[in-house]
Amino acid sequence: MSDNSNSISPSSPKPLAPTIGLTAPFAGYFPTWCPGCGNFGIWSSLKSVFNKMKLDPDKMAIVFGIGCSGNMNDFLWANSFHALHGRSIPNAIGIKLANHNLPVVVIVGDGDCYGEGGNHFLHACRANHDITVIVHDNRVYGLTTGQVAPTAYKGFKSKSTPAGIIEVPVNPIALAVSQGATFVAQGFSADMNQLTELIEKGINHKGFSVVNIFQPCVTFNHINSYNWYRERVYKLTPENHNPKDLNAAWQKSQEVEAKIPLGVIYQVERPTYAESLPQLSKTPLIEADLKIDLAPFINDFI
Ligand code: SF4
Repeated sequence: MSDNSNSISPSSPKPLAPTIGLTAPFAGYFPTWCPGCGNFGIWSSLKSVFNKMKLDPDKMAIVFGIGCSGNMNDFLWANSFHALHGRSIPNAIGIKLANHNLPVVVIVGDGDCYGEGGNHFLHACRANHDITVIVHDNRVYGLTTGQVAPTAYKGFKSKSTPAGIIEVPVNPIALAVSQGATFVAQGFSADMNQLTELIEKGINHKGFSVVNIFQPCVTFNHINSYNWYRERVYKLTPENHNPKDLNAAWQKSQEVEAKIPLGVIYQVERPTYAESLPQLSKTPLIEADLKIDLAPFINDFI
């Protein structure tokens, strides 16, 4: 199981042999995830994308949630912020509003994103904030040793639901499509080629993008294993799906168990939040000549 040790961030002392850009791990440091954890595939895919896109670690921001996925904060070299549980999306939105020229990526687990942060997720979809949310969907809370998460199938037994979970699962794809997200994709951590492509498309998309990634938790979820997914997933192609078609996307969102689609499920264009706000549309807030005396406002709260 992972923990929060070995913390490295741009503000931490630099390790002896830093590699260029986002090509961690650095000498002497390696993720604390369990051997075989799906997080390794996502971590590798993210690094491939950041390097391929030549994203400068100083000119992008990553916001991490709480959970095993959040421990990636220690192993990606970029401006980063480790948010409170469920609050990574609003932090990312704040960063984006301050400087909408900055690429902003959110890295979260399914519990953090669809449970504690569920309200933030759906309102971010509506607003079309230009951020990319990467969700590690393993259907359990791994860091806290295997309690049931919102995407677990009905009946899933865990230490918090010994008789099986009563609730039906959150459907991340249906939620995102129905609430106005403009890019919705689904990947599998064992297919890093496709995952790399999907994450790159998500970051390049102008507007709110989410990539829900099946990430087997080999320690606490023995149902949704690598083989379980391999027997069910199939790839979307131009021949079997049109991602611009809302009805088709909705139909794909309902394929959750017998067969499960991987690829871009929905993608449309709509003005982003910053483009729609006259105060932000021309100049990022950090470059605006506001000429506002904030002292009276601040004094109101003192
Ligand atoms: S998600 Fe599961 S397999 Fe991965 S580090 Fe956490 S507990 Fe281990």
